[in-house]
Amino acid sequence: MTDKDKSRSESSSDIADIVREVANNVKEVVEEMREDMKAVAQELGLSDPAVRSAGGSPVSDTPGPADDNRYNPHPVEMKWFERWEADPSLYASDPASDKKKYYVVEMLPYPSGALHMGHVRNYSIGDALARYMWMNGYNVLHPMGWDSFGLPAENAAIKNRRPPREWTLNNIANMKAQMKRLGFGYDWAKEVTTCLPDYYRWNQWFFLKLYEKGLAYRKKSKVNWCPECQTVLANEQAKNGFCWRHETTRVEQRELEQWFVRITNYAEELLQDIDQLGEWPESVRKQQRDWIGRSEGALVDFKLEGQHGPAGEKISVFTTRIDTIYGATSVQLAPEHPIVTDLIANNPELLSKVEDLIAEQRGAKEKGDIGSIDKHGVDTRRFAINPFNGEKVPIWVANYILMDYGTGAIMSVPAHDDRDYEFAKKYGIDTRVVILPRREQEPPEAGQPEEPVLPFTAEDSILINSGEWNGLSTVDAQLKMAAYAEKSGFGKGTITYRIKDWGISRQRYWGTPIPMIFCQKDGVVPVPEKDLPVLLPDNVEITGESGSPLARVPEFVNVKCPKCGGNARRETDTMDTFVDSSWYFYRYTSPVNDKPFDSEVANYWFPIDQYIGGAEHAVLHLIYSRFWTKFMRDLGMVKVDEPAKRLFTQGMVTKDGAKMSKSLGNVVSPDDMVASYGADATRLYTLFAAPPDQGLDWQDKGVEGISRFLGRVYRFVLRNAKPTDPAWDAPVPAELSPAARGLQRKMHQTIKRITDDFAGRWHFNTSIAAVMEFVNELYAAEGSERSTGAPPAIPLKLLADIQRNLVLMLAPFAPYLAHELWTMLGEDASTLLRHPWPKYDAALTKVDEIEIVVQINGKIRGRLVVPANATDDQVKQLALADEKVKAALEGKQIVKVIVVKGKLVNIVVR
Ligand SMILES: [Zn+2]
Ligand SMILES: [Zn+2]
Repeated sequence: MTDKDKSRSESSSDIADIVREVANNVKEVVEEMREDMKAVAQELGLSDPAVRSAGGSPVSDTPGPADDNRYNPHPVEMKWFERWEADPSLYASDPASDKKKYYVVEMLPYPSGALHMGHVRNYSIGDALARYMWMNGYNVLHPMGWDSFGLPAENAAIKNRRPPREWTLNNIANMKAQMKRLGFGYDWAKEVTTCLPDYYRWNQWFFLKLYEKGLAYRKKSKVNWCPECQTVLANEQAKNGFCWRHETTRVEQRELEQWFVRITNYAEELLQDIDQLGEWPESVRKQQRDWIGRSEGALVDFKLEGQHGPAGEKISVFTTRIDTIYGATSVQLAPEHPIVTDLIANNPELLSKVEDLIAEQRGAKEKGDIGSIDKHGVDTRRFAINPFNGEKVPIWVANYILMDYGTGAIMSVPAHDDRDYEFAKKYGIDTRVVILPRREQEPPEAGQPEEPVLPFTAEDSILINSGEWNGLSTVDAQLKMAAYAEKSGFGKGTITYRIKDWGISRQRYWGTPIPMIFCQKDGVVPVPEKDLPVLLPDNVEITGESGSPLARVPEFVNVKCPKCGGNARRETDTMDTFVDSSWYFYRYTSPVNDKPFDSEVANYWFPIDQYIGGAEHAVLHLIYSRFWTKFMRDLGMVKVDEPAKRLFTQGMVTKDGAKMSKSLGNVVSPDDMVASYGADATRLYTLFAAPPDQGLDWQDKGVEGISRFLGRVYRFVLRNAKPTDPAWDAPVPAELSPAARGLQRKMHQTIKRITDDFAGRWHFNTSIAAVMEFVNELYAAEGSERSTGAPPAIPLKLLADIQRNLVLMLAPFAPYLAHELWTMLGEDASTLLRHPWPKYDAALTKVDEIEIVVQINGKIRGRLVVPANATDDQVKQLALADEKVKAALEGKQIVKVIVVKGKLVNIVVR
């Protein structure tokens, strides 16, 4: 065995160990959960639910307000939990199926330790949809996974001295058990765990492909550095410019060589293809357009004036309004523009002022509100030359100019730009008008034109005070002046994007090691594909100090160069975790081990039919994963241009109007809710309390209400399920009593309402409200029967259909209760998941109408079509509103109106 073989077989046994460990963790947690549920059942004085339900006849139950809480979800849910747990292929998909495919994905969670209500809402939406599509006969793929690399694991390691992997795998086990308890129908055979080598080795493989195609490169870039920790800080660890662990230590900016992915190569396509995403929320499409930030404009070089400056240096400004260049009265630089240091090198006072500008800008960026920064600037007392008119303009440094937009330098034209105007007013910088509103009949040359109100920014204007360009229109001038700049060698027309290349280097431990090697002789050498994965070493001490944790592990760092065999060292940076989430949904389709996924299988499932997640991912994840898809398409691995056909973004869950957080003490734990009300009620409430795309403010009373509603459904079926009665499946008579017809209509209306909602806006809150109304009518019908003591006016077969459809309609939302009721109706529970979704009969949803006669003083004066179930008062109003009747009543006084139900209205007049 060569050394290399040995290390590889070690690594594969490592992987097997890890997989075993995960499986054991999950088993343990599920076992604990079973014990908990038994304890709850005992506390409530219930016998073993399995025994109870095996008996077949549920405990007797009579209706009445006093019994509103009689349905106990715990034993029922535990019974079904056990059955579903025993059938791992229950939610499996079948790519060989001839049914139509449906791929629904909810964004995978970060395994922080426990699900929060936002997760429960997200997965309840996705699960309802998956179940609905199963019932509609689709071949459904509904997987789940773990976005399990990232900083919190390292922070936890520092705090608790617990290795990140152990912490993470434990959290996964917990959350997986929670998901199972909530009854989410995931195909766990497709589970993806991004922190395991069988996944991240493909991140490394993709990185090699990116490198091969020139799409991964290294360049110097600034990072946050804490001089106390002696390490790089993530942005979220550098709060307001201070270290998160050393609150009085200012974070410095250091330049480090880092890896970048050339996402800008795809900027134009990422922008154009937003047009293909018609079924994404418009707000997300807009945010993506803004993020990509395409602007057409020009680059113009302003030379540095004077003998002091670095000779021949120039400042390249980007402008979208080259037509206003004669109005430029200063050049403004981003505080981090590289030339700034040179310009003010000998002036410590200016230097410290620029430091302040940097800090202000960083603060505003962290708040995500750079647009409303209080604008400050510093005059460098240096000048640049406008190449169009040879004029000398002062150079300023300003806190609102961003280094990562355009060139980090602008020409400031106060007369024709809002921001420039505000800034110039503040600092007394000159303002010069160079464009005027276009006036058709009165060209600007004719006499003294009127000054426009400043800043005047309209695009439809005419140039003045601009030398040979006077009289041109803006559009014309932009083309001609850019061409002139290019011909003269000091500029050109250009397109710039706000989006920057994706910096993926992280000086962190808990991430995918970047598979590169540095050799003294050969420079940067990629790890050969056959040597993947580069395993993340265990037993690395995480202190949060003294640089990258991997750099302190000699066994990891020291390596032989794959090219020359000499001593070399490994890259110790790990990848941004957005790499992990850029392609995980492809891996779901076929978690195989000799490639990232099986292309043929992926081509069957893609695009994702429905992607569901938080609106906070509108950019970043949803841009990176779109880029990754295009990159994989160009590698020939997939056929789609876009990963997801439809996107749904759910609203946030709050409590008392505030985001749930430990510090506010307003966190509602899913575990507590499930323990109090059961999984069905918890899920149903997250769907019922608000339209899913809007915010939901949690109300404990609301969950209680939902749990009472489930109790009402349960008790109704308990009383009315008579599957052994011969009439249960006898044909429904054609003639129904009005009461029976009313219920039949309500049933069809309710089915229609939910079916329409699934196809439309997903306002499940109204769907569920419709089911509640339906149940209310069922109760009312029962009540009227009882009070009259008459024999049931509802044929048993109709009552059977009503109950079956009621259960089918609840199945996507409250699967536990639905399964229980399904067996109570004499059906086979194993058929419910894929039982056809009920169909409504459009004709039966309509209210019956009847014709009645309208008499005045006993003479027929008209006929009226009214709803069969209209009340006497409604009929009277309709009769009086009839045009013919109105005419006949003209000038007469109504003495009395007599309504004979279903027949006529007699109006007595004087
Ligand atoms: Zn520090
Ligand atoms: Zn070498």
